[in-house]
Amino acid sequence: MELSKRVQSIKPSATLSINARAKELKASGVEIINFGVGEPDFPTPRHIKEAAVKAIHDNFTRYTPVGGIPELKEAIIEQFKVDYGVSYEPGEILVSCGGKHCIYNVMQALLNEDDEVIVPAPYWVSYPDIIRLAGGRSIIVHTKEEDGFKLRPEKLEEAITARTKLLILNSPSNPTGSVYTKEELEPIAEIAIKHKIFVLTDDIYNKIVFDDAHWASIIHAMPEVKDFTLLLNGVSKTYSMTGWRIGYMAGPDPIISACTKIQSQSTSNPNSIAQVASVAALKGPQDDVERMVSAFARRREYFLNRLQQIKYVTFYPPQGAFYIFPNFSAYYGKKYNGQLITNSLDLTSYLMEEARIALVPGSAFGDDRCLRFSFATSLATIEKGLDRLEEALKRLL
Ligand code: GLU
Repeated sequence: MELSKRVQSIKPSATLSINARAKELKASGVEIINFGVGEPDFPTPRHIKEAAVKAIHDNFTRYTPVGGIPELKEAIIEQFKVDYGVSYEPGEILVSCGGKHCIYNVMQALLNEDDEVIVPAPYWVSYPDIIRLAGGRSIIVHTKEEDGFKLRPEKLEEAITARTKLLILNSPSNPTGSVYTKEELEPIAEIAIKHKIFVLTDDIYNKIVFDDAHWASIIHAMPEVKDFTLLLNGVSKTYSMTGWRIGYMAGPDPIISACTKIQSQSTSNPNSIAQVASVAALKGPQDDVERMVSAFARRREYFLNRLQQIKYVTFYPPQGAFYIFPNFSAYYGKKYNGQLITNSLDLTSYLMEEARIALVPGSAFGDDRCLRFSFATSLATIEKGLDRLEEALKRLL
């Protein structure tokens, strides 16, 4: 049997595969520290769960409109008004089965064979594969640590061709945690407008920012770019609701309608109960969010202090999200049990086997010098994991 060329052209999600492997090892009795997947370790807040239970008892268990229930669209419109200072109509909103599903719909709706999407690297693992599945091509633009891993306008301009359809921005970034300022986004917005390219802004971590960093979107930088912009968010990271699978997007009506049509022929509506829970998340008290963000901030602080003490590791301090993406390339070329460590995959395998720490190799994010840690896990776990990391790295020296 021959599988489609489409599916043969992609890889499984690296983040989800590593999470599955870590859980498998744990189930078989291996005590593994999982820095792999990026999902908050807190329970979903009680009032959100209660809203879902009530929805079940109220028999809110049937098909809903494909693009989401009106109450949720209204709550999203309100949220976007507060976050971005702009208004949307319900026809400009789509609710999908997670943020990833929104991105999938956009690529399917916008890309023709060989159309190009500009993806700044380091990038979130799934962008290139979702683009490939839609027949498009990722144009990877590498950023530099000294620029805070942010896209420089001249690099963007250089990458644009007649086939460029879309640019993806992700701030705070997964995996680097970098956060663009309004000033940095201004020239990017100008270029998008000048070349008439769409911008998909993946703002899924916008509520998780640290210290004096201020999250800003391209729409704050230049409100006129709204006609070219797709705003993406969801409840997964902010409300610790990864399993509920609710993501949403706002953008120009023709694109949202096209995405809704695709959704009607694939998943139909997102889960009815999860939609009710998401209304409670967006409209209910936000103190749990504050608590979670403060906990992430404490873990980040601890992480940074410890990493500073580890020899030959350099890093850019994340300003948002819950990842750190340090450079471990000084350890490449070292040997263990006669085996040479040449890249990020070799080093993550070594750390998994020898130190029982699960990490995602930087190659999955387009930068082979680094490894990604998620600090969405308890301080005690982080402490233990970093002790093991330090020990294992010492053995290589
Ligand atoms: N976005 C998270 C991560 O990067 C969740 C897993 C995924 O879908 O990639 O770990």
